[in-house]
Amino acid sequence: MKQINTVTGTVSPEKLGTTLMHEHLLIGWAGWELDCAVPKFERKSALKNCVEQLKQLKDMGLESMIDPCPMDIGRDVTFMGEVASASGVNIVCATGLYKEDLGNTAYFKQRTIEDITEVYVSEITKGIGDTGIKAGIIKCATGKDKITPYEENLLRAASRAHKRTGVPITTHTDEGTMGREQLDIFASEGVDLSHVIIGHSCGSSDLRYHTDMLDKGCFLGFDRFGLDFLHPDRLRLAALIGLVGVGFEQQIVLSHDSVACWLGRGLDVTPQLARMIENWKPSHVFQNIVPALRKAGVAQPKIDAMLVGNPRRYFQN
Ligand SMILES: [Zn+2]
Repeated sequence: MKQINTVTGTVSPEKLGTTLMHEHLLIGWAGWELDCAVPKFERKSALKNCVEQLKQLKDMGLESMIDPCPMDIGRDVTFMGEVASASGVNIVCATGLYKEDLGNTAYFKQRTIEDITEVYVSEITKGIGDTGIKAGIIKCATGKDKITPYEENLLRAASRAHKRTGVPITTHTDEGTMGREQLDIFASEGVDLSHVIIGHSCGSSDLRYHTDMLDKGCFLGFDRFGLDFLHPDRLRLAALIGLVGVGFEQQIVLSHDSVACWLGRGLDVTPQLARMIENWKPSHVFQNIVPALRKAGVAQPKIDAMLVGNPRRYFQN
């Protein structure tokens, strides 16, 4: 039986249960640790906040969470392990590098696809640093409207590491662009696209964009609920209800891309922005999106498929 690497050991896909497929505990942009003008990172209180948050989510039914933080924007798998142990929620961490404009690129730009593939495979099979924690998912990312040569190398390294280990791939896209092109690169490397989630696909409400990708057999992440300033929830919901209405519920997963704690300075939240992210928290799907789906006539088995069945099949594939 296939086993999933979590930060506290392996679990079988059947044991994942209700899963949020894209949430973050910590994010820190490269260089955050050089900002001496902000108070030192309070690890203990951050840990306490994350554990409390996950315990509340557990009471709402959450059993597992994927934190697809790439290696280069503040990933801390020991922190994830402590949160998972204290909360009782399974957490899966990622290997992989972020998109060029926001990643920490200087070193890896000088490496070959094969060098990078070896790093990813090592983090999956041997573990991350000396933590003993193994990555259970591979992350890659592209920016808006184009894939840079560096990002293409990372997509190819992710494909090759996936083919060597069987660990699935999850991606970041900007503003609902380049998902189709990501799939073309994966397919050119021989990846079976049922092992791929095209993340942040709800950043577009263009149903042709969605169905072009769904027809290739991948999963789509409707995984930025609550980020109204990027794309309004009612458009994310309209697209989701439409796609589920024509039978694509077996290929969609739900999440928020929430960030529990920022390293260094976080978002600069103006009063206007605050109004547009008031629902951007990892309980929003359970408290508001699922009820909205029910109100629109989406049957419970379809909702269960997106929150339970699809995460399981994605890892089983
Ligand atoms: Zn994310």
